[in-house]
Amino acid sequence: MSLDGVYDDGNIFARILRGEIPAARIVEDDQTLAFMDAFPQSRGHCLVIHRVSTARNLLEVRPEALAAVMSSVQRVTLAVRRALAPEGIIISQFNGAAAGQTVFHLHVHIIPRWSDRPLGRHGGGGMADFAELKDLATRIASRLDS
Ligand code: AMP
Repeated sequence: MSLDGVYDDGNIFARILRGEIPAARIVEDDQTLAFMDAFPQSRGHCLVIHRVSTARNLLEVRPEALAAVMSSVQRVTLAVRRALAPEGIIISQFNGAAAGQTVFHLHVHIIPRWSDRPLGRHGGGGMADFAELKDLATRIASRLDS
Protein backbone atom coordinates (compact mmCIF):
# COMPACT_ATOMS: atom_id res chain seq x y z
CA MET A 1 0.00 0.00 0.00
CA SER A 2 1.22 3.47 -0.75
CA LEU A 3 -0.18 6.96 -0.63
CA ASP A 4 -2.61 6.13 -3.42
CA GLY A 5 -5.15 3.35 -3.35
CA VAL A 6 -8.72 2.36 -2.76
CA TYR A 7 -10.20 2.17 0.76
CA ASP A 8 -10.44 -1.45 1.89
CA ASP A 9 -13.39 -1.88 4.24
CA GLY A 10 -11.82 -5.07 5.56
CA ASN A 11 -9.10 -3.08 7.32
CA ILE A 12 -8.77 -3.67 11.04
CA PHE A 13 -10.22 -0.31 12.11
CA ALA A 14 -13.26 -0.70 9.85
CA ARG A 15 -13.78 -4.08 11.52
CA ILE A 16 -13.50 -2.49 14.97
CA LEU A 17 -16.05 0.14 13.94
CA ARG A 18 -18.47 -2.60 12.86
CA GLY A 19 -17.93 -4.41 16.14
CA GLU A 20 -16.45 -7.46 14.41
CA ILE A 21 -13.33 -7.46 16.56
CA PRO A 22 -12.90 -6.19 20.10
CA ALA A 23 -11.24 -2.93 21.03
CA ALA A 24 -10.68 -1.21 24.36
CA ARG A 25 -12.90 1.76 23.56
CA ILE A 26 -12.37 5.03 25.42
CA VAL A 27 -15.05 7.25 23.96
CA GLU A 28 -17.06 7.80 20.81
CA ASP A 29 -19.18 10.63 19.52
CA ASP A 30 -21.21 11.03 16.37
CA GLN A 31 -18.07 11.36 14.24
CA THR A 32 -15.09 9.84 16.03
CA LEU A 33 -13.93 6.86 18.07
CA ALA A 34 -10.96 6.69 20.46
CA PHE A 35 -9.58 3.34 21.61
CA MET A 36 -6.41 1.81 23.00
CA ASP A 37 -3.66 0.72 20.61
CA ALA A 38 -3.34 -3.07 20.95
CA PHE A 39 0.44 -2.97 20.34
CA PRO A 40 1.30 0.09 22.41
CA GLN A 41 4.55 2.00 22.08
CA SER A 42 4.05 3.22 25.63
CA ARG A 43 1.53 2.76 28.44
CA GLY A 44 -1.63 4.62 27.48
CA HIS A 45 -0.97 4.70 23.72
CA CYS A 46 -4.32 5.36 22.08
CA LEU A 47 -5.77 6.07 18.66
CA VAL A 48 -8.48 8.34 17.28
CA ILE A 49 -10.32 7.57 14.04
CA HIS A 50 -13.27 8.96 12.11
CA ARG A 51 -16.28 6.67 12.23
CA VAL A 52 -17.68 7.51 8.82
CA SER A 53 -14.90 8.89 6.63
CA THR A 54 -13.21 6.37 4.35
CA ALA A 55 -10.11 8.52 3.99
CA ARG A 56 -7.03 6.31 4.08
CA ASN A 57 -4.74 9.13 5.11
CA LEU A 58 -4.43 12.84 5.79
CA LEU A 59 -4.18 13.68 2.10
CA GLU A 60 -7.64 12.27 1.37
CA VAL A 61 -9.70 13.39 4.34
CA ARG A 62 -12.23 16.19 4.08
CA PRO A 63 -11.26 19.15 6.26
CA GLU A 64 -14.48 18.92 8.30
CA ALA A 65 -13.79 15.27 9.15
CA LEU A 66 -10.18 16.08 9.98
CA ALA A 67 -11.34 18.87 12.28
CA ALA A 68 -13.59 16.42 14.13
CA VAL A 69 -10.74 13.93 14.49
CA MET A 70 -8.31 16.56 15.79
CA SER A 71 -10.87 17.97 18.20
CA SER A 72 -11.29 14.47 19.63
CA VAL A 73 -7.49 14.02 19.71
CA GLN A 74 -7.17 17.14 21.86
CA ARG A 75 -9.99 16.05 24.19
CA VAL A 76 -8.55 12.56 24.66
CA THR A 77 -5.00 13.90 25.05
CA LEU A 78 -6.15 16.13 27.90
CA ALA A 79 -7.82 13.12 29.53
CA VAL A 80 -4.66 11.02 29.07
CA ARG A 81 -2.69 13.73 30.84
CA ARG A 82 -5.13 13.85 33.74
CA ALA A 83 -5.36 10.06 34.02
CA LEU A 84 -1.73 9.03 33.59
CA ALA A 85 0.34 12.16 34.30
CA PRO A 86 2.89 11.67 31.49
CA GLU A 87 5.80 14.11 31.19
CA GLY A 88 5.24 14.50 27.44
CA ILE A 89 2.82 13.30 24.78
CA ILE A 90 3.56 12.47 21.13
CA ILE A 91 0.81 13.08 18.59
CA SER A 92 1.67 11.27 15.35
CA GLN A 93 0.09 10.23 12.10
CA PHE A 94 1.60 8.24 9.20
CA ASN A 95 0.77 8.47 5.51
CA GLY A 96 1.73 5.58 3.24
CA ALA A 97 3.61 2.37 3.92
CA ALA A 98 6.93 4.06 3.25
CA ALA A 99 6.17 6.41 6.15
CA GLY A 100 5.30 3.51 8.45
CA GLN A 101 1.53 3.36 8.01
CA THR A 102 0.19 -0.15 8.49
CA VAL A 103 -3.58 0.40 8.77
CA PHE A 104 -5.13 2.32 5.88
CA HIS A 105 -7.95 4.08 7.69
CA LEU A 106 -6.90 7.57 8.79
CA HIS A 107 -5.89 7.59 12.45
CA VAL A 108 -3.95 9.72 14.91
CA HIS A 109 -1.71 8.27 17.62
CA ILE A 110 -1.62 9.68 21.16
CA ILE A 111 1.53 8.36 22.86
CA PRO A 112 2.29 9.35 26.46
CA ARG A 113 6.00 9.68 27.31
CA TRP A 114 8.06 9.52 30.47
CA SER A 115 11.71 10.52 30.30
CA ASP A 116 12.85 7.39 32.13
CA ARG A 117 10.89 4.92 29.98
CA PRO A 118 12.02 4.00 26.46
CA LEU A 119 9.62 4.44 23.55
CA GLY A 120 8.58 1.14 21.96
CA ARG A 121 9.10 0.67 18.26
CA HIS A 122 6.25 1.70 15.95
CA GLY A 123 4.61 -1.50 14.73
CA GLY A 124 7.24 -3.59 16.46
CA GLY A 125 5.93 -4.23 19.94
CA GLY A 126 4.03 -7.11 21.47
CA MET A 127 0.30 -7.28 21.95
CA ALA A 128 -0.92 -5.77 25.21
CA ASP A 129 -3.05 -7.59 27.73
CA PHE A 130 -6.66 -6.77 26.83
CA ALA A 131 -7.84 -6.49 30.45
CA GLU A 132 -5.07 -3.98 31.09
CA LEU A 133 -6.07 -1.97 28.00
CA LYS A 134 -9.68 -1.94 29.15
CA ASP A 135 -8.59 -0.70 32.55
CA LEU A 136 -6.54 2.09 30.96
CA ALA A 137 -9.46 3.00 28.67
CA THR A 138 -11.75 3.27 31.70
CA ARG A 139 -9.24 5.43 33.55
CA ILE A 140 -8.81 7.76 30.57
CA ALA A 141 -12.55 7.93 29.90
CA SER A 142 -13.20 8.86 33.54
CA ARG A 143 -11.01 11.96 33.09
CA LEU A 144 -12.67 13.31 29.94
CA ASP A 145 -14.26 16.73 30.17
CA SER A 146 -18.01 16.65 29.91
P1 AMP B 1 -0.05 2.87 11.72
O1 AMP B 1 1.12 1.92 11.68
O2 AMP B 1 0.31 4.31 11.89
O3 AMP B 1 -0.94 2.60 10.54
O4 AMP B 1 -0.84 2.53 13.04
C1 AMP B 1 -1.65 1.42 13.18
C2 AMP B 1 -1.73 1.14 14.64
O5 AMP B 1 -2.77 0.23 14.85
C3 AMP B 1 -0.45 0.52 15.22
O6 AMP B 1 0.05 1.34 16.26
C4 AMP B 1 -0.92 -0.84 15.73
O7 AMP B 1 -0.31 -1.18 16.94
C5 AMP B 1 -2.40 -0.61 15.91
N1 AMP B 1 -3.24 -1.79 15.82
C6 AMP B 1 -3.14 -2.82 14.97
N2 AMP B 1 -4.12 -3.72 15.17
C7 AMP B 1 -4.88 -3.24 16.18
C8 AMP B 1 -6.04 -3.70 16.87
N3 AMP B 1 -6.65 -4.84 16.55
N4 AMP B 1 -6.54 -2.93 17.87
C9 AMP B 1 -5.94 -1.77 18.21
N5 AMP B 1 -4.84 -1.28 17.60
C10 AMP B 1 -4.31 -2.00 16.61
